[in-house]
Amino acid sequence: MKIPFNSEQILINGKWQNAENNKTLDVINPSNGELLCKIGRGSFNDIDCAVVAAQDALNGVWGNYSAMERGRVITKIGEKILEYIDVLTELESLDVGKPTKQARADAIAMARYMEFYGGSADKVHGHTIPYMDGYTVFTLREPHGVTGHIIPWNYPMQITGRCVGGALAMGNTCVLKPAEDACLTALMFARIAEEAGLPKGVLNVVTGLGIEAGAALSSHPGIHHISFTGSVGIGKLIQKAAGNNIVPVTLELGGKSPQIIFDDADLDAALPFLVNGGIQNAGQTCSAGTRILIQRGVYEKVIKMMCSKISLLKVGSAIDDLDLGPLISPKQKIVVERYIAHGVESGLKIAAQGLISDDCPSAGCYVVPTLFRDVPPDHKLAQEEIFGPIQVAIPFDTEEEAVNLANGTEFGLVTGVWTRDGSRQLRIAKAIKAGQIFINNYGAGGGVELPFGGVGKSGFGREKGFEALYGFSVLKTIAAYHG
Ligand code: ADP
Ligand code: MG
Repeated sequence: MKIPFNSEQILINGKWQNAENNKTLDVINPSNGELLCKIGRGSFNDIDCAVVAAQDALNGVWGNYSAMERGRVITKIGEKILEYIDVLTELESLDVGKPTKQARADAIAMARYMEFYGGSADKVHGHTIPYMDGYTVFTLREPHGVTGHIIPWNYPMQITGRCVGGALAMGNTCVLKPAEDACLTALMFARIAEEAGLPKGVLNVVTGLGIEAGAALSSHPGIHHISFTGSVGIGKLIQKAAGNNIVPVTLELGGKSPQIIFDDADLDAALPFLVNGGIQNAGQTCSAGTRILIQRGVYEKVIKMMCSKISLLKVGSAIDDLDLGPLISPKQKIVVERYIAHGVESGLKIAAQGLISDDCPSAGCYVVPTLFRDVPPDHKLAQEEIFGPIQVAIPFDTEEEAVNLANGTEFGLVTGVWTRDGSRQLRIAKAIKAGQIFINNYGAGGGVELPFGGVGKSGFGREKGFEALYGFSVLKTIAAYHG
């Protein structure tokens, strides 16, 4: 595929232009290691121009749009995304190595975010507050102003959709900094938004490095809210940068999410979710359900069931659309392989591994899905987010032990509970420290409508769903005295 636009250009104030000094970065296809194209390497000054443009748009046309008008243009963007779905799918597969099915699902989710947030733009209402005699008091929800969005490479379209969709719905303008490894669909999205009639300067896209464009954006005094999805280490930097300017941040920093399987669970129903929790997007998923906690009575049975499925999984080029594609980059492949090596060296037992397809290019970033069994709960592989297709199985005896194990990491993003006992479902759902709990399912089909975010090192703030709109707005209280 020829990239259907000039990928070296960034978007500032409705103008597609080269980054300062025409600097670029290489874009590598992780399925074969080949150079795909180049993207702009945005600078501090590029970010500065983008922030100024976003502020101008806020002061100008976008600030005068009614909520209904904002909603209509966001909805239109969603419709256009579906018109361009084949292009978006192929771009994402080439750029980040997603099997076609997954890339397509991401594009559909991005369109769905636009549909959801387009529809909700005029439905966020304030309150009236009963107060002292002679007063009428009410609240308004207003935009923060210029919002910064720093996006990771694992779900570029979904995360761009949820951030930008929510921010625009509430009347903010945006400066978007996609991950250096995953920029092409963000650039295409901006072109689609233009075509749908989004006024210039409302969405600006500056590609570039985290330490350059990303740091410039998170520390810019003209930014009024930052949403960040990525690693804990960079999340800390973002929060510090925002702290200097006293601006709110939403941090979604991943997890080490458990799926708890009790003896009475419907194992056949659970099985696809248990396996998929580890392999979806080759394990590069914030909410990956990678800690499999299994009650002793069904431990061997569940391991056996998982092994028979995992050993048939196939890894291959994105375009071959197998169960898993490559990881995002050679760097990520090394990180994940080190975890596997560490597991083996420290005496962990591999229960099952998948297969690499014979015709995988040797320069591709392939890692086979791997399940380790009988893993001590405090082992590095049971505690750290790996971001690769690695899962650990841990046995438990009692409900109390299961809860302690589930809560026994620094993270708290998602938990899955598999049991037929209704009282236990709710006891556990309340006892678990996490932002989302799934009972007898895991992931609930992506859940555009479902508020998402973590506790602990998984971050704070909620994205997705209606709840995100509160985060993307500021409450103003108006007290009128009329006697
Ligand atoms: P990952 O490890 O998943 O790549 P990162 O947290 O490193 O996650 O990256 C997520 C996003 O944060 C990317 O868009 C990246 O460019 C950006 N980023 C990386 N370093 C910084 C930084 N120092 N300041 C701001 N953004 C950064
Ligand atoms: Mg790439």
